[in-house]
Amino acid sequence: AMYTKSDIMQMVEEEDVEFIRLQFTDIFGNMKNVAITSSQLEKALDNRCMFDGSSIEGFVGIEESDMYLHPDLDSFTIFPWRPQQGKVARIICDIYRPDGTPFEGDPRYILRRVVKEAEDMGYVFNVGPECEFFLFNTDDNGCPTTETTEKAGYFEMGPNDHGENARRDMVLTLEDMGFEIEASHHEASPGQHEIDFRYEPALHAADNIMTFKLAVKTIAKRHGMHATFMPKPKSGVSGSGMHINMSLRKDGRNIFADETDKFGLSQDAYYFIGGLMKHVYSMTAITNPLVNSYKRLVSGFEAPLHITWSVTNRSPLIRIPSSFGSGTRIELRSPDSAANPYLTIALCLAAGLDGIKNKITPPENIQKNIFHMTEEEKEQLHIKSLPTNLYDAVCAMEKDAFIREVLGEHISNVYIGSKKDEWNRYCRAVTEWEVDTYLDKF
Ligand code: GLN
Ligand code: MG
Ligand code: MG
Ligand code: MG
Repeated sequence: AMYTKSDIMQMVEEEDVEFIRLQFTDIFGNMKNVAITSSQLEKALDNRCMFDGSSIEGFVGIEESDMYLHPDLDSFTIFPWRPQQGKVARIICDIYRPDGTPFEGDPRYILRRVVKEAEDMGYVFNVGPECEFFLFNTDDNGCPTTETTEKAGYFEMGPNDHGENARRDMVLTLEDMGFEIEASHHEASPGQHEIDFRYEPALHAADNIMTFKLAVKTIAKRHGMHATFMPKPKSGVSGSGMHINMSLRKDGRNIFADETDKFGLSQDAYYFIGGLMKHVYSMTAITNPLVNSYKRLVSGFEAPLHITWSVTNRSPLIRIPSSFGSGTRIELRSPDSAANPYLTIALCLAAGLDGIKNKITPPENIQKNIFHMTEEEKEQLHIKSLPTNLYDAVCAMEKDAFIREVLGEHISNVYIGSKKDEWNRYCRAVTEWEVDTYLDKF
């Protein structure tokens, strides 16, 4: 651990921190927090802060509702966008039951559990996400729209890139909060951006994704814009993904690398890919959690549809970026930023470890453009597709004992129930597309 209790007390004193936000993430990937003043800090650091778990969707019933927040001291950070006198800081918390056991509905606990399993095998799992998002105009009431006045595309610059100043502010803010920003750029669609931060061990990476979304949304608002991580806010242009770059280290060495292999990959890297490919279909309800997520997974927009891996192909599900040696990594390209990062990363790691433990050999990699193949060719090569809608994805998750075991029964049951309900509500909705297409024709 980096910080002790007294370090935190001292920083709060010296930095003139007035409020401390105790944060956690719910099952559906929403950040929650309760604010305390510095007078209550000692109590909080002693794990004595309680909240009503029955008021958080999917947590617990009212008859067993007391939950305790256990602050993870190393996550202490000051919000640079709040006043600089009487500052605001946050600490990310783990959630415990009154009897002192970790709460199995806490996604951070689910990730901790898989990370522990990896650690017991001697592994450190490093994760580098690539988060894409849109910056849209707000209307006269300050409400978000899907409008943008800009027309810029991939890697374009100012003056065409209207998000340039906001993005600059986001990068500087994130650096203030301890992020190492590797790159930031305009993405393919008008109003679409990407900011890449350095990989970290799994738990830290998941925390970073949550912090990243909060910071990006906050800074966008300051610039009079709305930042959205909605996977496909507009039809006809690319959606936003959250590609997950992964590597495993053992004794400080990247065990995915083998320079003697034609693709620079070790046997364990192949097994890891095999595990991912075996489980990815049933993982999709978590990695692509919304009705809208599946509108991104269509052809023509660099998003994956087929369960394949490749070193050259344009839009495979799993890609091996051309970085040999210690930078060798596996990139999973299906997840979007609406996904709960703790559960997503937990499943990626569990699937990959399953591949290693059970020596799951992946199918041949596909170099050809799948979009130019006939159905027959795809069948011959055993190329399967990802689920094409939330319902199929949830049904697959429901039937998959492996996924349910990784997530635990509490989260699995709550999640499946809630997502089926979301799907049913969607099915009852009459959409703009239907009215546009059918109203005057029939
Ligand atoms: N936006 C694309 C997606 O949906 C990715 C584009 C890219 O980064 N090459 O995943
Ligand atoms: Mg990228
Ligand atoms: Mg991108
Ligand atoms: Mg990528």
